[in-house]
Amino acid sequence: MKDKEPFGGLAIDFGADGGGASATATPLAIAPEAPPTATGGPATIASAGDRVDTKLLIVGSGPAGLTAAVYAARAALEPVVLAGSAPGGQLMLTSDVENYPGFPDGIQGPDLMAAMRAQAERFGARLVDVDIDRVDFSARPFRIWARGTEYRAQSVVVATGASALWLGLDSETRLRGRGVSACATCDGFFFRDREIAVVGGGDTAFEEATYLTRFATKVHLLHRRDTFRASKIMIDRAYDHPKIEIHPNTAVEEVLGDAKVEGLKVRDTTTGDMSEMQLDGVFIAIGYVPNTAPFREWLEVDSKGYLVVRDETGSNIEGVFIAGDVHDHRYRQAVTAAGDGCKAAIDAERWLEAQGITEAATATAW
Ligand SMILES: Cc1cc2nc3c(=O)[nH]c(=O)nc-3n(C[C@H](O)[C@H](O)[C@H](O)COP(=O)(O)OP(=O)(O)OC[C@H]3O[C@@H](n4cnc5c(N)ncnc54)[C@H](O)[C@@H]3O)c2cc1C
Repeated sequence: MKDKEPFGGLAIDFGADGGGASATATPLAIAPEAPPTATGGPATIASAGDRVDTKLLIVGSGPAGLTAAVYAARAALEPVVLAGSAPGGQLMLTSDVENYPGFPDGIQGPDLMAAMRAQAERFGARLVDVDIDRVDFSARPFRIWARGTEYRAQSVVVATGASALWLGLDSETRLRGRGVSACATCDGFFFRDREIAVVGGGDTAFEEATYLTRFATKVHLLHRRDTFRASKIMIDRAYDHPKIEIHPNTAVEEVLGDAKVEGLKVRDTTTGDMSEMQLDGVFIAIGYVPNTAPFREWLEVDSKGYLVVRDETGSNIEGVFIAGDVHDHRYRQAVTAAGDGCKAAIDAERWLEAQGITEAATATAW
């Protein structure tokens, strides 16, 4: 592995998101105004303005949503998946995934998500690549609107994930998966014996910088201000670490490199002086935003805006279940999200049985 280039040099065109110096969430993978793509079956998906009724609606098509879809489809629930305008979720933003069990040689993130989608469709899940606009969870059937279509469901699995915040630079977008990452746990391994940077000033940035010293020869921590939001103990530990060099008052202006990251152009925020750093990778650690906006009126959120789960995958509303990064800011891994999706589908299926909406005894179908 030592000889491997970061992310294997896979060419993925994520498109440009317009740039700007402020932090931005993940760009949409499909144009918001494009007609929604619907795949799989057998549910009949109505065109805009119509109504769709289903026993189980799954919102989101990352590892959590698609695993829920596989389980629910195999339990004959004929789930409808509103896959979002970024179908496949966060793993579409990376190339090599080497920690998802079952792939000893690793797998490309988009390939893994395409396989999960095909598996869900094979068992009868119906997927529509559309974002939901609003929900009404005041009574059953629950009602969800997406691009003019009303979806009515006896139960819902919310698996809308979280979006990493990025700096908003065109060069950063272009080199994502080619040395630019937002996940140290996922991608640190690719930077063994490399010199890298972490951007951010909070606990996450300091934690990731410390974690990355296991692999990298040197970790530069860059922050645009001279004060940090991280706890004092984290800051002290980083200052004492022989492999970490802290650069306050340093803003990233451009990620340098053609096929992969070769360095950063940075600006001293006190003097305005520009300089270049030669690096093999950069981790953006400026935070995540949970995709909870349409649900906030109905579902409980914690102080960071993540959904609150009750009894494993339940929510404060009976029949509404939660899976994946939309509630989990602790593990943030594909395999934990997939595990959550499995649990949420089983819980939803058992709940539907208990309500008399579906027949009992599907337990053996899992
Ligand atoms: C750069 C990067 C690299 C990573 N590498 C790895 C790795 O190597 N290994 C690993 O295990 N993990 C990795 N992760 C983490 C992993 O991708 C996440 O933990 C995982 O994808 C979470 O799955 P999820 O299904 O909960 O949510 P997500 O993958 O975030 O999927 C959320 C889904 O919800 C949809 N959605 C959002 N809002 C709406 C809406 N309003 N209406 C409808 N749909 C909506 C989105 O379109 C998307 O389909 C990486 C993450 C990043 C950012």
